Amino acid sequence: MRLTFVLTVLLLISEDATVSAFSPTIMTSSTSTKLSASTESESNPIAINPIVANVKVSATVQIFSNVKQMQAEGIEVTSLCVGEPDFPPPQAVLDAASKAILDCDTRYTAVTGTAALRQAIADDLLDRKGITYDPNTEIVVGNGAKQCVYQGVLATAGPGDTVIIPAPYWPSYPEMVALAGANSVILDTKEEDGYLITPEALRECLEETKDQNVKLMILCNPSNPTGGVHNRKRLEKLAEVLNDYPQVAILADEIYERLVYSDSEEDEHVSFAAISPEMYQRTMTINGFSKAYAMTGMRLGYMAAPQPLAKAATTIQSQLTSCAGSISQAAGVAALKDVKEEEMERNVEIMRAKRDYVIERLSKMDRVNLAVPPTGAFYVLPDVSTYYDGDDTQLCLDLLEKKRLAIVPGSSFGAPGTVRISYATSLEELEIAMNKFQDFLEEC
Ligand code: PLP
Repeated sequence: MRLTFVLTVLLLISEDATVSAFSPTIMTSSTSTKLSASTESESNPIAINPIVANVKVSATVQIFSNVKQMQAEGIEVTSLCVGEPDFPPPQAVLDAASKAILDCDTRYTAVTGTAALRQAIADDLLDRKGITYDPNTEIVVGNGAKQCVYQGVLATAGPGDTVIIPAPYWPSYPEMVALAGANSVILDTKEEDGYLITPEALRECLEETKDQNVKLMILCNPSNPTGGVHNRKRLEKLAEVLNDYPQVAILADEIYERLVYSDSEEDEHVSFAAISPEMYQRTMTINGFSKAYAMTGMRLGYMAAPQPLAKAATTIQSQLTSCAGSISQAAGVAALKDVKEEEMERNVEIMRAKRDYVIERLSKMDRVNLAVPPTGAFYVLPDVSTYYDGDDTQLCLDLLEKKRLAIVPGSSFGAPGTVRISYATSLEELEIAMNKFQDFLEEC
């Protein structure tokens, strides 16, 4: 394997990936990280805003770029590192996008999105989730759920404020909080609880941070990276605790809500905003089209929230991007209105089969622990801490070098000693990946 590639990945998947984001051409020595950064700043009088300079680049995205680069160079790599479904968007979505282009539907839309898309979102949230939003004032369509999450953070937290982030977490959350100038407090969850938040731990965290201006709590349900799903009963218990802390808003990132594999009604996905009128008032519901409809490149997501919160997000978006792409929005309307429920359910069944396969294979691997099998999203986060003395980064690095299998170290999700495996790929690819993983661990 080429030296530059190994070193690039080493830097990118290390905890301190900051510098690599800004000096991609200088990674020729494993000790060059700090040296190169200062050399750059000495020769360049332009100072980077410290808020940005301290933000880490996404390890997942960077590993994925490197895998693509390796593949382009003809190196065969098996990649289970990115959160992207392997199926194409539904035909109705593709047709609507083509039609929008041919109809020259290429102008700016309203900041909050087209009336048709906002209405379709409001109808969908009411039909499937039982929550009512005014499409004119309470839905903000953005360029992907990611932008909507950031706008939700920025709308509620700033310098001197604190945001509670349950761990394991999607790595963008703490970085977005840092970009907003606020502080993150990590609420740790336990492997034996399936990485779900307990009401006791939440209360303890809110009590301990009473003097820290806690403005927001993030709730990723189903979770990336654990695949855990907080069911209605658990959400109700969390809401009971939050009732005692009325100043805390909730950002409910529900982008994986369509991908839940439990057969019991008790465990089906419920939106946090649907738990009670009090929670509805304080919740920003985030969702999007990337995961359920495989529209990742179309960059389409939304926030649904009571008016003051939606208005704040609209103000931010009006100054950042103006609006989501008009063609993607037309495709989004088709996704919500024209895609048959059976097609959606078929995709869930296919994904469930992949999950079952990966869980079964992992369960047969020595010293790999998956205390509670995940019931949502398309990730598993097995504990491999008895290997490499718990150094998950080195494990992933060696796995990539020796077996050409890319998975993401759990450290980047606030879960050291684990690895995150995305099973949103073909069963054939999963079999190759699991064979490689097993061989690798057996050789350790
Ligand atoms: N939220 C979570 C938890 C995610 O995992 C992702 C994507 O990986 C997003 C939001 C962003 O999705 P989008 O593609 O809509 O920006």
